[in-house]
Amino acid sequence: MKLVEHFKHGLDAPICLTWELTYACNLACSHCLSSSGRRDPRELTTAQCQSVIDELQRMQVFYVNIGGGEPTVRQDFWDLLHYAVDHQVGVKFSTNGVRITRERAEQIAATDYVDVQISIDGATAEVNDAVRGPGSFATAYRAMENLATAGVEGFKISVVMTRDNVGQMDEFKAIADRFGAQLRLTRLRPSGRGADVWHELHPTAEQQRSIYDWLVDHGEGVLTGDSFFHLNALGSSPIPGLNLCGAGRVVCLIDPVGDVYACPFAIHDEFLAGNVRDPGGFESVWRTSELFAELRQPQTGGACTSCSAYDACQGGCMAAKFFTGLPLDGPDPECVRGNAVPVAPGIDRPMPDKDHSRKSRSRRTVSLGMPGPKIPMTVPDRACNTDPIAGLR
Ligand code: SF4
Ligand code: SF4
Repeated sequence: MKLVEHFKHGLDAPICLTWELTYACNLACSHCLSSSGRRDPRELTTAQCQSVIDELQRMQVFYVNIGGGEPTVRQDFWDLLHYAVDHQVGVKFSTNGVRITRERAEQIAATDYVDVQISIDGATAEVNDAVRGPGSFATAYRAMENLATAGVEGFKISVVMTRDNVGQMDEFKAIADRFGAQLRLTRLRPSGRGADVWHELHPTAEQQRSIYDWLVDHGEGVLTGDSFFHLNALGSSPIPGLNLCGAGRVVCLIDPVGDVYACPFAIHDEFLAGNVRDPGGFESVWRTSELFAELRQPQTGGACTSCSAYDACQGGCMAAKFFTGLPLDGPDPECVRGNAVPVAPGIDRPMPDKDHSRKSRSRRTVSLGMPGPKIPMTVPDRACNTDPIAGLR
């Protein structure tokens, strides 16, 4: 049996486990897949996080993708990172860079099995800050400088492709090359707050062709998180990757309150498999949940099976279909053969179950506790927006 067939039936442990440590975030990106902003008071405690790590070690999960929210605003973040590494669970964490000071960068450089991914969504402040908020490009850029200066080689620069930044792919690559970093391009999904801006921001059909062509021509060494396999229907050169929807098979999400979902882009009751606090913990959820068993069954391609590109495209992304209100066994909303049912803005579609967006935000010029000029940024209305244990001390 080919390796990919094993993956379709699910593995004993996920190979792409995302763990969002907190919903708290200093930014309010318009496309945030987890609608982050405010901390949830039910978030896992330090001890609960440690016991999840113990389980991951027992399950031989070799690394975990830590995200949020902004994970570094958890006061126990660095302790948890070291706890994971000491327990043979490598850490790749995503950050907007707010806490990546020179000292932290040096600490990262000195720690094995830790990888860091800085998020930007524009190669210029103008394009980036329109999505991620004022000052966010400067913050991310300074973090990259700190990492490069500290000698962290091959850190990742992660970009969500939007209508406004497709034309900047060469510039993103140049930034990555400048810092000795690796570029990671991923697909915008209509998940979380992304659903609200998807119609304005998702790439046009012509831009999807540009992304495909660029990845085929220049994509060697560029990571994609296996997120563009629906574009494989455009040509005979497949974009490297597993090229299948791994939800519940090789992919899953643990959210900040311990809920386990089939995929980070599918935060909705329909895709909720259990909670790490349930008896049997994460291992039992991964191995015995009915939802995951169902997702590991052979899937029907529905309306896609008659398409000559089905083997290459697999009908696209389950989460993208779900949150645009399309049938899960039909074409992706961005089907490159034009076979998707048109999705009009404002039609009935499933809404994300969880929304931790801040309701009102004030913008002031503040110091981020790092050397350099003060920059404008979103200031939290309440302490719990950035401090996961605010009010619990
Ligand atoms: S739902 Fe979409 S993002 Fe999630 S694993 Fe499947 S294809 Fe990937
Ligand atoms: S019809 Fe389905 S399989 Fe064919 S290109 Fe569109 S999404 Fe892919």
